[in-house]
This record gives sequence, structure tokens and C-alpha cells, in this order.
Amino acid sequence: MSTDLGSRRSQALSASYRLFYDEPFEPIRGEGVWLFDKNGVPHLDAYNNVASVGHCHPAVVRAIAEQSARLNTHTRYLHPAIIDYAEDLLSEFPESLNNLTMTCTGSEANDLAIRIAQCYTGGTGLLVTGWAYHGVTALLADISPSLATGLRLADHVGLIEAPNSYRSSNFVDSVKAAIVKMQRQGVKPAALIVDSIFSSDGVFVPSKGDLAAAARLVHEAGGIYIADEVQAGFGRTGVHRWGFQHDTVIPDLVTLGKGMGNGYPVAGVVGPRTLHEEFGHQQRYFNTYGGNPVSCRAAHAVLDVLRLENLQSSALQVGIYLKRRLQALAERFEIIGDVRGAGLFLGVELVQDRRTKRPATQAAALVVNQMRHRQVLISATGPAANVLKIRPPLVFDFANADLLVERLELTLQTLS
Ligand code: PMP
Repeated sequence: MSTDLGSRRSQALSASYRLFYDEPFEPIRGEGVWLFDKNGVPHLDAYNNVASVGHCHPAVVRAIAEQSARLNTHTRYLHPAIIDYAEDLLSEFPESLNNLTMTCTGSEANDLAIRIAQCYTGGTGLLVTGWAYHGVTALLADISPSLATGLRLADHVGLIEAPNSYRSSNFVDSVKAAIVKMQRQGVKPAALIVDSIFSSDGVFVPSKGDLAAAARLVHEAGGIYIADEVQAGFGRTGVHRWGFQHDTVIPDLVTLGKGMGNGYPVAGVVGPRTLHEEFGHQQRYFNTYGGNPVSCRAAHAVLDVLRLENLQSSALQVGIYLKRRLQALAERFEIIGDVRGAGLFLGVELVQDRRTKRPATQAAALVVNQMRHRQVLISATGPAANVLKIRPPLVFDFANADLLVERLELTLQTLS
């Protein structure tokens, strides 16, 4: 057997998996914003939003270890860890969103949210953005066009435009058109589901009022608005706890995941009791691992750290600073067409030509790979994979931002 981890991996693991970077990265330890390789070389992590309060945060590690050593069961027994967390989490939401169902992954949360929506509305139609990603189940693969180019859309799926602030886009009009098309085909809309930071579509913050208008249209058609906060939730966008709060409309359901447990698998659906009841009275939902006492203690520790270390406000301040420094780079490097995003979720769109805005896909891949060799981890997103995705743990500070910009500057110099 080969001792090379890469070839052993391709022998043992399925073909669906993809590795990051031309030269795969092999971290063996994490701490805060740093990932260390086997030689002890620190790499600045500007990519992993799952470790939202920092890799291996001691408070989260302790919570997991202590509860694991005492008891781990499930939601069918009474346990204070589950109820304490549910109550505390719900206190972070507008009053009407007062019920929680827990799952293990963002996919399970979205899958359940759609089942609740379809049960509540009696419709089946789902409206999603053109390059959305919502998860891994069969139901979600149908509404995740970003999984592969040219996937055939299911009949009950309507595509809408992302609110692209860089290129012209008609987000609200596209929702209207997709609803009309759906209705003409005899499909009743069940839900509009959008990632509040449109991460796979290329990172966008919609203009205020756009989501409210889109939600109104969906409501008029008998459907509901689901905010997928798997990416944008838990303070990442800086100004608000939840990405949907950039607009005035309160979603009918909110799905959570990723940063919720800092790496421990815990996710969930938050919504009004009425909506959960409609579904819950018709059928039971039991997720063996979802919301177990260990995951609840982990998630509760994350929430505590988020508050104690003021990480949302830090994401706002550091995010503004980083964005400004990236915008300053854009004044010197023609290849940067746009810098956008909110808090510590930023997108830097690379273009071949600022006038035509032709995507610089190859250059983006080059930048991502060169940054990895300069010990800074980022990625690329968007339909043309030309938007640098910068989405570090929320403990990312000003000095980390300086380091990222310095290394990006060096990298961009090699391109010109
Ligand atoms: N929704 C969004 C917006 C996501 O980005 C992801 C994961 N990338 C998911 C849902 C699915 O979450 P998970 O991988 O935990 O199933």
C-alpha cells in the first residue's frame, strides 16, 4: 500500500470528493485563525467559517469533552442541555421565530425546511438562485444548480437571478417571472429559499427592500420565504446576528448550520410555532444525532464565546477594514473588478477587462493556489469561479487582515 496520503485517498474515497489546491494542503493542528501543517508551518485561515469562533476554541473543546464524558443520548429524553440551548438560541431571533428543530447538518436543516414548507403551503414549487447551493440530499440536489454545469432542472424548480450588484440584475423581477412561469406549468410555489449572503452565486448583499419585495411576491403566490443562514448566520455579516436582518422582512423559516457548533455537527431550523406544528402534527421527526446533549453543549459554548468575545462586532470592524484595504488594492490592480460582501464574508471579483467584465477564471485559480503557497488559505466562488472568497473564522483580527492583503498584493504583482 502506498504511504502517500493523496494516492491512498484516491484509492479509498469515492470519486465525488474534490481536494482544494493544486498541491493539497495537509493541516494537522488548528488554533484560532491558524492551521499548522506537519512541519509546524502556520497557515492563515481565511476560508473556514465552520470554525467560526476559531479552530479548537478551548471553551468549545471543554464543553464537548465534559458532556461526552458524562452522557450523550438524543432528543427523546429530557435533558437540560437541549432546552437551555434552544431557549438561548431562540432569544437571538425576532419574537415570532420561536421554535427550533435540530439536525446535524445544514443539508438536513434545508431538507426539513422544505418539507415543512411543502406541508404548510400544499405547494411543491421551489425558487432558487441560478448558482445556488443548499445541500446534499436528493431534494436539495434538485435546487443546487451549482453542483455541476448543465444539470437538468426538476419540473418544480424555478430559477431566479442573484442580486448581482456588479453586473446588471433584476432580482425581484426574476422572482416575479419565475412564479408566473411556475404557475403556468400548474406548479404551486411552496418556497423561495435563498442563502442570505449568496455565497455560491458570487457573494452579494441585496439592496434593502429587495428581499422584502421578493418575499411579498412569494407570499401572494401562497409560498413562504426560507432564509438559508448556513453561511451568513451567527454574526458573520457583522451588523446583524443573521444575514436576513439586512432587510426588513422576517423569514418564515431560517436554517442554520456550519458555524453553529464550531465544527461539531449541529444545525437546525428556526420558525414560528404554527409552522412547525402544522408539520409536526402530521408526522414525527426524529434525527438520531440531531440536537444531542453534546452537540447542544458545543453549540451553547459557541454562542457564549460569540457574546463574550464580541465576535460579531469584531467581524464588523475587521471586515470594514479588510474591505477598505482590498478596495485600495483594486485601485492599483486592474484585474480586481469589484470588492463586496459584509462583515467577514467578502468577495473579490477578478475580471479580464473592467469594461466587458469578462471573468478572470484562470487568474482566480492561480491566485488561490499562490496564496496557499504564501500560507494564506482562501478559495474562489461564483458561476465562473472568479470571485475570491474570503471568509475566515470570526476571530480574524486587523493584523491578520494586513497579512492577507500583503500576501494578496504580492500574488497580484506576479500576475501583471
Ligand atoms: N446551505 C448553504 C448556503 C451552504 O453553503 C451549505 C454548505 N456549503 C449547506 C446549506 C449545506 O450544509 P452541510 O454541508 O452542513 O450539509
